[in-house]
Amino acid sequence: MPNRIDVTVIGAGPAGLAAAISASRNGASVLLVEREARLGGILKQCIHDGFGVLRYREKLSGPEYAYRDIVELETTNARVMLQTYVSRIEKIGSKFILTLISSNGLIQVESGSIVLATGCRERTAKQVAIHGTRPAGVFTAGTAQYYTNILGQMPTKRCIILGSGDIGLIMARRLTLEGAEVLGVYEAKSEPGGLLRNVLQCLNDFEIPLRLEHTVTRLFGTDRLKAVEICRVDKNMTPIPGTEKLVKCDALILSVGLVPENELAEMLGAELNNKTLGPVCDQNNMTTVSGVFTCGNSTHVNDLVEFVSESGVIAGSNAARYNYRAARSLVPISSSADFLYVVPQCIDVGSQENEATIYFRSSEVRKNVTVSVLADGQEVFKQHYNHLRPPEMERIEVYFGGEFQRMSKVTLRMEDTVISEEEPEEEDAQSVETVGAQEDLGYVDDSEHMEYDDDFADVGDYGDIDDTEDIR
Ligand SMILES: Cc1cc2nc3c(=O)[nH]c(=O)nc-3n(C[C@H](O)[C@H](O)[C@H](O)COP(=O)(O)OP(=O)(O)OC[C@H]3O[C@@H](n4cnc5c(N)ncnc54)[C@H](O)[C@@H]3O)c2cc1C
Repeated sequence: MPNRIDVTVIGAGPAGLAAAISASRNGASVLLVEREARLGGILKQCIHDGFGVLRYREKLSGPEYAYRDIVELETTNARVMLQTYVSRIEKIGSKFILTLISSNGLIQVESGSIVLATGCRERTAKQVAIHGTRPAGVFTAGTAQYYTNILGQMPTKRCIILGSGDIGLIMARRLTLEGAEVLGVYEAKSEPGGLLRNVLQCLNDFEIPLRLEHTVTRLFGTDRLKAVEICRVDKNMTPIPGTEKLVKCDALILSVGLVPENELAEMLGAELNNKTLGPVCDQNNMTTVSGVFTCGNSTHVNDLVEFVSESGVIAGSNAARYNYRAARSLVPISSSADFLYVVPQCIDVGSQENEATIYFRSSEVRKNVTVSVLADGQEVFKQHYNHLRPPEMERIEVYFGGEFQRMSKVTLRMEDTVISEEEPEEEDAQSVETVGAQEDLGYVDDSEHMEYDDDFADVGDYGDIDDTEDIR
């Protein structure tokens, strides 16, 4: 094992696999480090289909999607270390010294640049304030997925799911198919937290009720969970007294959010964004620490795996081309409160790359809006959206044009679209109007989101079936 390497990629999920392939194809010597025994990251346990529609025009399972990248990785010169944990990284001069823990003991590696592809972790029961006892039977959705799909063991016979994030929705269907009774998915907000596609395919198709504006307030049971207390909540998500109901169940599955694994970024002193909780980065996916790149769910929690892979390609190719002598000049991207977040958060005008792939989420459900990008007040991109929903990430490509290196401010703006009476609204009005040329980066297009948007009206009240018992 050489202990000097050009690019070290940490994490071998779809982001890390894409980064390692892309860095290697760009001529770098590459080391891919993964703490688990197999490549593929969280996709190993996502055995349902739906992955790869944008990239391959096929519906693959998670392992099938990962397998295609693993096969491609094998055609490169990237070296892989499995069951190896990156415990420490230090920047010394222009180099990074990594401490790896493996079955062979501690190893130190010197690397020219780093790609963080460490994924995200789930929020746990401790991060959701629920009163009562602490019995067995409270799982995160990912743990329930691991039990069911990897260990082949059923974690429950009768459960409720708290939180309508995608993994919770997918597990509602999965556990139902495996014979468990899923009494309902309870969501404190007034909108589901996951993709509409998953609400329709995982809940509606299986008649699993989605109870919006509800939460779990108390657990009952000593050794094993026996029941939970659920409650309606007000607009501030505060439980409304008198609305308590008791639901008998042996498991509570939590799908209450994902947080980027950002410990290594923090250790390196990279600035974190308080909205994404991942590192701040530029259009080349470089963090505020020169030579440290980020991608996938360790940057921000993505909705579709293709965006994860795409960010890996960007991070890997730029890590391979990284020149520590090149000066950076970061211009911030600012956005109004209409946006939940925007990634990247800055543009390096010192770089050769005057095109940026920008991802954003709206902070609330919006209809008929126009999003524009302004460089020093001049519009460089404009797109109309029929619907924007916070769970659905949007992706745009912006070309900043010839004045790129002189610009000092980039702003994202969202405004209600003004539709003139003479011009009726187009049916498929998710239209793009771009000022300046735009190069097609490859496999991603936005058509999938439009399909979900059209389905939105059909979801209705999400089926308010009451199978609970009064607590008193
Ligand atoms: C529990 C869970 C279930 C999910 N299920 C679905 C689903 O069903 N459908 C869907 O579309 N999306 C799902 N997602 C979203 C999914 O995470 C993304 O689509 C995508 O897999 C993220 O890719 P990634 O490469 O960024 O991260 P991951 O796939 O999470 O890969 C990160 C890798 O980094 C490794 N790692 C982390 N820290 C270190 C370290 N210090 N040293 C060495 N290795 C390290 C981890 O072991 C892991 O293999 C799920 C996410 C989670 C957390």
